[in-house]
Amino acid sequence: MKPILFLDVDGVLNRCGHSAQGLESDKLDLLQWIVTRSRCDVVVSSTWRTLPDCKRRLLRALAERDIEPIGCTPDLNCSRGTEISVWLKLNRAGENFVILDDDEDMGELLPHLVRTLSYGGLTSAIAAEVVNRFEAMNPEP
Ligand SMILES: [Mg+2]
Repeated sequence: MKPILFLDVDGVLNRCGHSAQGLESDKLDLLQWIVTRSRCDVVVSSTWRTLPDCKRRLLRALAERDIEPIGCTPDLNCSRGTEISVWLKLNRAGENFVILDDDEDMGELLPHLVRTLSYGGLTSAIAAEVVNRFEAMNPEP
């Protein structure tokens, strides 16, 4: 199984309060850089997965950058960390994952979180931190 990136959108691919639930191309470019460098799969954990119009826009923007998410976390009306835990169990995934999010309600998965600032979103420094995390978990042979 490839490394997995759990992807939030608001406060990651946009800056909350700046872009009115848009997607910012420079942040999508940084995500593409992460995926290319880390050869990770993407699982959408954002609430955008539950909103059909938002989900369509997200998938289209990702497809333009050759990113095809392998799935979404289940919508269980509980903490995001729990939803991610359930996805990991259902998919028999191991510890090889990073959570990219501007919230920290990750419970026991908190050590896997790389946190963005809601008003800043994904930056090149944070993208580099994600890549470094994956490299630390997947040392080159
Ligand atoms: Mg968010």
